[in-house]
This record gives sequence, C-alpha cells and structure tokens, in this order.
Amino acid sequence: MTAGPSAVDQVAFLGKIERLLAEGQFVATYKYALLIALADLSVQHGRDDDSTLDVPIRAIAERFIELYWRQCAPYGSVVGDGDYGVLIQNTGRQASIVGVIHALRHDHGTLARAMRSPAWHRAVTQTTRLIQTMPLWRLQVLRSEMLEFLYEKSPHRGRIRLKRGVAANLRRFHGMIVRLAQGEWLRFVQALPANAPLLGPTSDLGQFLFGAERGALLKIAEPLAEAQSGLCLYCQRPVQAGEIDHFVPWSRYPRDLAHNLVLAHARCNRAKSDLLAAETHLERWLRRNDDRGAAIADAAARVSIVVDLPATLGVARWAYGHEESLRAQTWLQDDALEALTGRWRSLLRS
Ligand SMILES: [Zn+2]
Repeated sequence: MTAGPSAVDQVAFLGKIERLLAEGQFVATYKYALLIALADLSVQHGRDDDSTLDVPIRAIAERFIELYWRQCAPYGSVVGDGDYGVLIQNTGRQASIVGVIHALRHDHGTLARAMRSPAWHRAVTQTTRLIQTMPLWRLQVLRSEMLEFLYEKSPHRGRIRLKRGVAANLRRFHGMIVRLAQGEWLRFVQALPANAPLLGPTSDLGQFLFGAERGALLKIAEPLAEAQSGLCLYCQRPVQAGEIDHFVPWSRYPRDLAHNLVLAHARCNRAKSDLLAAETHLERWLRRNDDRGAAIADAAARVSIVVDLPATLGVARWAYGHEESLRAQTWLQDDALEALTGRWRSLLRS
C-alpha cells in the first residue's frame, strides 16, 4: 500500500477546491451536487492511499437524485398548485433534474418506492446523460482556465477516473468540502430572484435543503425498538420514548441510511453528540445489523429511508479510519471517552 497524499498536496488540493467554488461559472446547482456526490462516493468506495478511483457515472446519478429529492418538495408555506413552491435551481429555466424528480415524486411519492420501481432505471439513465452533458466537463473550468485536478476520462465506458490521491483527499476532508459546497449551494438558491417569493425574512432554507428529515426518521422508531429488544443501543437499558440517532454522526456524514439509525435515550444521544461511538458500541451495532438488518431494511423501505448496507459499512470504515488518523477519542458513556484500540478493523472487516 502506498502512502496517501503529502501534507503539501493536501493543502494544494483544498486550495483548488476553494478556487473551483469561488471562480467557477455556476448557472445551476449541479456542480455543487457533483462535488458532494464525488466526496460521498469516495467515502464509500475509495481508499486512503494515493490510488486512482474509477466512479460509474450512474452511481453519481443515483446520488444526484437522492440529493435533489427533498429539494424538489414544495418549500415553505407559500404552496399553491402544481410546480409552485418548488425552489428554482438554475439561472435560466428550471434545471431539468427537477423535472426528472418531479415525475418520480408524482408517481411514487417516496424515494425508497421510486428506487424499487421500474421507472428508476430510466430516471438514472436520464440523469446520467444530464451529468455527462452538463456539470461533468464544466466543474473543472474556471473563468480563465481549465483546472483539471479532480478527474479525467476513464478507459472504462460510463466511468470517470478520480486522479491519484483525489479520493484520499475527498475522504480526509469530506466534512469540510461538503459543508463548503452546501454553503455555496444555499447562497446560490437564495440569490436567485425567482426564489424571492418563497423565501421569507427568517427562512430555514438550509435545514430544508440539507437537514435531516426528522419526521421520516421517527417513523422507524418502532421497528428499531423491536430490532433492539426495546433497549437503548448505547447503555442497554430499556428505552420508552427514545430518539433516533445516527450511529456515524450526521455531522460527519449527512445522509440518512437505514442501518446507520439507532434508537437511544435522549440523554445518551445528547452525551454522544457529534462523537464517534466506542468500539463496544460498534460491535453491538454490527451485531444488531447482522441479526435484524433485514427487518430494518423492510421497515425503512416502507417509510422512505434509503437502504444500502454495503454503503453504510463503507461509511463506518471510513469514519473509524479517519478517527484513528486523528487520534481522537470515541464516546463510551456520559462524559467518558476512550481511545480506539484498533479492534474496529477486525469488526468491520467481514
Ligand atoms: Zn441509553
């Protein structure tokens, strides 16, 4: 295994990301979505060494639809008939991804149902084409120059190749890059005059665009309670009215994946906060998903929460690896923290 990008390379990489967001030509929000999708896919499939990573454009398309799904719901209280109330994502006419998703929403209602429908394949194909013609070959174009540092054509059809060390950098700085892209995305949508009628003086636009869907999550509380025999995942005591917690914290990986959700006491959830759970919790979480993963998947599909166990495990591997490289402490209970022993590697191997 070769080493990852050097410190100098890492700083240069972040500088280029910043330039890309500051100087790139943005007529639609696609480029932000593309950057977030590449960061997410690097977490799921990439490595921490200097290797390249081939990414199927269809995988990017699936992530795209997921990112835009909630954004294509009517925003705020100013909701009338038809399209009114849906935020505009483009300086010209409405971005065509919105049309693709509007049709899926209309016919299937929830993302989870849409994913299982025959229409999904076609929607991904349409979105793939859109990504190929629009943001893919423009993300790396700045006002005055081409800054091709992220990816290039892959010799394999339907894929792009992330250049050496790019996946490692996207994994290392995932949180920072996603927050940067979301911030710019939010400002872009806010600044479009066409959206002005929808945006009140005190808008929760950021929460709407990128926040966790708390309402949907609550619907999985009961199936989770069943899967955990009525116990809080962390302290193993009975839990009555618990909270839904993201095992790998939302602040580190802002995506609702069914198997990442656990039932916990509000108190345990608060104490854990944005910390990664200690290895004993990791072991219990993995055992729960081994034993009851299928039931959780069924329940999640019914309430429109995305099910992808391999991706969830990839995210956990990334999160613990990242934590180890930072020598950060994991959360055990109350205010007790503990260092990683490395046991997480063997736990997450299978
Ligand atoms: Zn508890």
